[in-house]
Amino acid sequence: MDTFSKAERSRIMASVKAKGNKSTELKFLSILKANDVIGWRRNYPLVGRPDFVFPKLRVAVFIDGCFWHGCLQHCRMPSSNKDYWYTKIDKNIQRDKKISKELKNKNWKVIRVWEHEIKSGTVKRKIGIIKKLHNRISMGGPPLSTPPRQAGPHRAVPKARRNNWGERFNVAP
Ligand SMILES: [Zn+2]
Repeated sequence: MDTFSKAERSRIMASVKAKGNKSTELKFLSILKANDVIGWRRNYPLVGRPDFVFPKLRVAVFIDGCFWHGCLQHCRMPSSNKDYWYTKIDKNIQRDKKISKELKNKNWKVIRVWEHEIKSGTVKRKIGIIKKLHNRISMGGPPLSTPPRQAGPHRAVPKARRNNWGERFNVAP
């Protein structure tokens, strides 16, 4: 049984979320700076509240925590309240998809960055995309020469794998 009330649990998890997000975002920020990437805004009023927005490039960057956004490599359900967490994280995933789609329809390019990409340094590839767009704009080109692609390779979780979630997390699908 859960030893916390629902309200207590939400409060605790909200503080965990805020703290985890913050350090990952700050790390991303320092990587942007180290790579001389400019033109980003934080708290930019855009659907889904992206963590970083490049208004001139029409690029929205979301930093997705491995746990909260259901990274297939690192998201492990807590041992208690599996149903609760499974539902919650699945909701987040659906919300992420919806927001990415909405932005894409408004001709924004959505880049979703996993927490683990920031920690491991593999995020450089995605930063390279932003830099390329910057260069194109500074040469007088359009923000996007091709229609914006889907939210990013990591987001396109094959359906078959998604369906394995129930089994993986040992809850009813
Ligand atoms: Zn991960």
